[in-house]
Amino acid sequence: MTQDLTATFAATRALFDLPEGVIYLDGNSLGPLPRAAAERVSSAITDEWGHMLITGWNKAGWMDLPARVGDRIGRLIGAAPGTVVMGDTLSIKVYQALASALELNPGRRVILSDTGNFPSDLYMADGLCRTLGQGYQLRTVAPEEVEAAIGPDIAVLMVTEVDYRTGRKHDMAKLTAKAHAAGALTVWDLAHSAGALPVDLAGVDADFAVGCTYKYLNSGPGGPAFIYVAPRLADRVRPALSGWLGHEAPFAFDQDYRPGHGIERMRVGTPPILQLRALETALDIWDLVTMADVRARSIELCDAFIAAVEGACPTLTLASPRVAAERGSQVSFRHPEGYAIMQALIARGVIGDFRAPDILRFGFTPLYTTMEDVGGAAAVLSDIMANALWDRPDYKRRARVT
Ligand SMILES: *Cc1c(COP(=O)(O)O)cnc(C)c1O
Repeated sequence: MTQDLTATFAATRALFDLPEGVIYLDGNSLGPLPRAAAERVSSAITDEWGHMLITGWNKAGWMDLPARVGDRIGRLIGAAPGTVVMGDTLSIKVYQALASALELNPGRRVILSDTGNFPSDLYMADGLCRTLGQGYQLRTVAPEEVEAAIGPDIAVLMVTEVDYRTGRKHDMAKLTAKAHAAGALTVWDLAHSAGALPVDLAGVDADFAVGCTYKYLNSGPGGPAFIYVAPRLADRVRPALSGWLGHEAPFAFDQDYRPGHGIERMRVGTPPILQLRALETALDIWDLVTMADVRARSIELCDAFIAAVEGACPTLTLASPRVAAERGSQVSFRHPEGYAIMQALIARGVIGDFRAPDILRFGFTPLYTTMEDVGGAAAVLSDIMANALWDRPDYKRRARVT
């Protein structure tokens, strides 16, 4: 690793409030607290909500926040200003993008996705098909088979770029080009891409993209999602979730819905201002780095972890692609006792997570994860495996959130 990157990421790490004695490898699920967030949110509560009351919508710029923050996210995902807007949760944004994409391709009925996609995306697609009726259906194939399954009956290709379990990464440029050549539209889910690796939505000519901010982007639990619509489509799409804040003139209080200009029409209802303030402080940290540097460092961290764990723990099987270019910013291993092993790790201060049926998942987040963290986590894991420290009844009882 170059000295430059070491200094850059030492500076970003200092901007997070990480508990003493913890090695946090779960920022792919919930990013940690930026130090400035508490004060920023507290000031939004006291000075904005407390003192401005309802005038905050104008005076504190609350109403423009979803678009302004969207532009800052846009920088990280290759989206031009004015093409990304914040709001709702990712599941809602998946539904919204998919409904609009299907409506743009009225002659076709099939949504193509893969079996590695996050269940909520598949459930939302399934629910939308049920609502639409008329033969709409969701078709899922294995992740490796997506490319071959793009054919003349596909209306929309809806895939998550990086698989939440294995970290396997789709080739976004190639699949988008193939979908377009076949007359299909694309909805890309960037849940494990935004803040994890460089994304070039404009460059690959993606149609729709959605993602969340509480994972790699560190907005905090329940932080709002984002949606991108290609500028060539933004004034044509019809939002299925036609809420008042996506209306052309919300405060005209018209009886009829007229979609707002461009991406503004993808807004639904009242935005979560306190969460957006927290997200702004998180994005201040992102302003200090380039995604190319984050990616370079992420690969170093992931490669080092794979080498250390494979060297010391022969019963763990790598579930992620070995080739860095084919994975996101996480490393997963399989073991039949994965849940208990993860509980043993957490008890020793190494926090990753478990995904059924047998995946131990570790996220690598260069803004605050160091090479010492990698070595420390691998050493604890190797001790747990070598001495079967996971083999205790209390580590096998499943909690509600795994
Ligand atoms: C994390 C994640 C979600 C979660 O959706 P929410 O509505 O924010 O709870 C959805 N899809 C993917 C691909 C995810 O990784």
